[in-house]
Amino acid sequence: MWKMQTFLGCDKSYDAADTVVFGAPYDSTTSFRPGARFASRTMRADSYALETYSPYLDADIEDKSICDMGDLELCFGDTQKALEAIEERTAGILRDAKLPVMIGGEHLVTLGAVRAAAKQYPNLHIVHFDAHADLRDDYLGVKLSHATVMRRIYDIVGEGRIYQFGIRSGTREEFAFGEEHTVMHSFGFSGLESAVKRLCGKPVYFTLDLDVLDPSVFPGTGTPEPGGVAFAQLLEAVYRVCALDIVGCDLTELCPVYDQSGISTAAALKIMRELLLALPDGKNT
Ligand code: MN
Ligand code: MN
Repeated sequence: MWKMQTFLGCDKSYDAADTVVFGAPYDSTTSFRPGARFASRTMRADSYALETYSPYLDADIEDKSICDMGDLELCFGDTQKALEAIEERTAGILRDAKLPVMIGGEHLVTLGAVRAAAKQYPNLHIVHFDAHADLRDDYLGVKLSHATVMRRIYDIVGEGRIYQFGIRSGTREEFAFGEEHTVMHSFGFSGLESAVKRLCGKPVYFTLDLDVLDPSVFPGTGTPEPGGVAFAQLLEAVYRVCALDIVGCDLTELCPVYDQSGISTAAALKIMRELLLALPDGKNT
């Protein structure tokens, strides 16, 4: 019988799952090099190469209750509609008391998921790893773009609720905006410990733009930005964040076509495996 290929052994039924993975293959607002729409299918295909067992955590994906719902069918060129579909999918998963884990796509897809999470959790806080501040008010006159996504999320969650790490690119205005309205940590993860203390007990949406990694380990992305963090640093930071009360998360901006070696996809998959394993069982049930 034909069976959909799933991420990394995430093959439990929806009803049995406490964590639900889905793909949001959208990249229409990408400002530089498109192709993030191919991330989820490439990750599924390359899942074959990665063990489900983590020697870091002595834990196995097979022992978790994770369902892969496949990819959303999103209409390229209609950003509003795509975001609505993502919001609807995320809201459904949250309503069923399960944890949504979304695979982008470009970073704008996060806005749809956060819209749903913020309705369910009015006190929502955001942890954001990225090379880019994504705090522009518009990009070439367009309000909905992967370059504006955190600004639109700020419009929803408000003052001081967004904790940004790894930021090393943006306009002067974006950095000034971050200084005043978000909790921005540039270049790396310094400040993460105190952020984790402050966020303890609060509902947190975790958005991970994978270009926070240095392009030497993650060249397969639309807007590579040198000077990023090492893989092991990111792994440690992900573990710290997963100790929080995570109500939803995503991985975005893998763009496999720019890395023929496949190491970027391998890095994304390994981060995803560790993320799924580090999130407590039945977190959202
Ligand atoms: Mn981003
Ligand atoms: Mn980025």
